[in-house]
Amino acid sequence: MPYTLPALPYDPADFTDFVSPNTFAFHHGKHLQAYIDGANKLVQGSNYEGKSLIDVVMTSSGPLFNQAAQAWNHEFYFNCLTPTPQAIPEKLASLLSANFDSVEGFKEKFAASAVGNFGSGWTWLMQTGPNKLKIFNTSNAGNPMVDGFNPLLTIDVWEHAYYLDYQNRRADYVKAFLDHVNWQFVASQLK
Ligand code: MN
Repeated sequence: MPYTLPALPYDPADFTDFVSPNTFAFHHGKHLQAYIDGANKLVQGSNYEGKSLIDVVMTSSGPLFNQAAQAWNHEFYFNCLTPTPQAIPEKLASLLSANFDSVEGFKEKFAASAVGNFGSGWTWLMQTGPNKLKIFNTSNAGNPMVDGFNPLLTIDVWEHAYYLDYQNRRADYVKAFLDHVNWQFVASQLK
């Protein structure tokens, strides 16, 4: 079965102060679609044909890894967002406080990592142990789950994620992102 474009779990028009529907249209409809098409093309006739996207991400390298991981990373990123600001579920809030001094401390460290992530890439909150959370930066299509960590939250810091609305102001995009995290989704990823 070929990989297909997942529908967004919300209406982009409901975001009034994050990124525009135009950004969603390009980011989801063009960029993510292109990664999915790229992954489909590269698995065809290879040993990876018929494998799930996550299996391909975990076991491939080179051009196929780049396309498959970008497809996986984007689907996860879009799931991390919500138009309506949400409270952080209690268990997740206490884990954030235990690992980063406070929820605000987490947001500051995550934002600083995302703003400082040089070039194109992703900034992640990963679960690295039962009660252990850690922030990672990856470049290009990188995902720390290939090193055995469990993804909880990610922000896309490729320029295509924000340039139409924020141009060079990545810090403003990151700040707005943190106001639109689907914390219910993030908490649901805890193992
Ligand atoms: Mn992107």
